Amino acid sequence: MKRFLTVLFIILSFVPAVSAQGKSETVHTQEIFAMDTYMSVKCYGKEAEEACMAAEREIQRLDSLLSTGKEDSEVSKINRTGSAVLSGDLKTLMEMSLEVWEKTSGAFDVTVYPLVELWGFSSKEFRVPGKEEIKETLKITGSDKLSYDRESGKLVLGDSQKLDFGGIAKGYTSMKLKEVFSSFDIDGAIVSLGGNVQTYGAKPDGSPWRCGIQDPFSSSGQSVIAAIEADNLAVITSGSYERFFTGEDGKTYHHIIDPSTGYPAESDLVSVTIISKNGAEADALSTACFVMGMEKAVKLWQDSGRKYEMILITKDGTLHITGGLKDSFQTNSKFEIIY
Ligand code: ADP
Ligand code: MG
Repeated sequence: MKRFLTVLFIILSFVPAVSAQGKSETVHTQEIFAMDTYMSVKCYGKEAEEACMAAEREIQRLDSLLSTGKEDSEVSKINRTGSAVLSGDLKTLMEMSLEVWEKTSGAFDVTVYPLVELWGFSSKEFRVPGKEEIKETLKITGSDKLSYDRESGKLVLGDSQKLDFGGIAKGYTSMKLKEVFSSFDIDGAIVSLGGNVQTYGAKPDGSPWRCGIQDPFSSSGQSVIAAIEADNLAVITSGSYERFFTGEDGKTYHHIIDPSTGYPAESDLVSVTIISKNGAEADALSTACFVMGMEKAVKLWQDSGRKYEMILITKDGTLHITGGLKDSFQTNSKFEIIY
């Protein structure tokens, strides 16, 4: 089940359409359904409407390229034929995905799709697979079983392997939207791709952009547990509450799969938010850190030179935030700072 963050996004991003100088600003908002989720693009400035429309075209273009659900997408074609020579977006995505796969010791893995299918997340006919089925499927998953040549872009999938860029696509899209916005005469923009936020440029009143972090414990899916100021940044969250089903055994099963076990990832975390200039990396890392759990997520952050910020929410309700956020962060919940 997907909880829609549109209302939350609109409340948080709404600012009067008047600039600091009291001048009237042009503001335009576009609501879009793509990548299996609700999205919203809001632009300010002279070419706000044109920029919103171009953003929508870019979102639809990437959805048509990357969707596992659309039979004629490039990814679906690769999944049928098992090989391709990658270029453009797909080449970039493949290389970024393999890099994150490597540095997360396989916690982020774009070959996880046969497992996503097995659990019914692709068809929405959810089911709890048997142990044997999972064991058999694990034999075909794993980025170590594909071959990819960076030079030529030649990709050959292992036997029965299938790709799924679902864990990186929205962050990548938000990165591409920055390029789109830069070719229009706009002052600023804020985008929510299913709750993953990207800000661009300046807010008309001159104040920083503020983004809400969804409360993973709220049943309505629309309350905020924290807010951060985030100018020209991607704020990307992965959580067990985003898509899940309840099995006949009464247990809940969510959509982030631990590639090492084939089961929905189980750790001390209920949600991971990554704040970074690089939306694609933030997206892949939020999925990976959710799988890895708190300790390994913190170690990875330290090992990668603290070049992004994180909000990790543990099952006990505590927020663990990295040091760089301490002056731009508000919450009424219990929190600790990680250095
Ligand atoms: P969301 O798409 O809900 O914002 P994520 O960015 O965490 O959340 O991506 C989850 C999606 O990524 C799943 O729906 C599935 O398609 C895919 N996925 C699941 N587990 C993994 C994994 N371990 N590595 C890479 N992709 C994954
Ligand atoms: Mg992700």
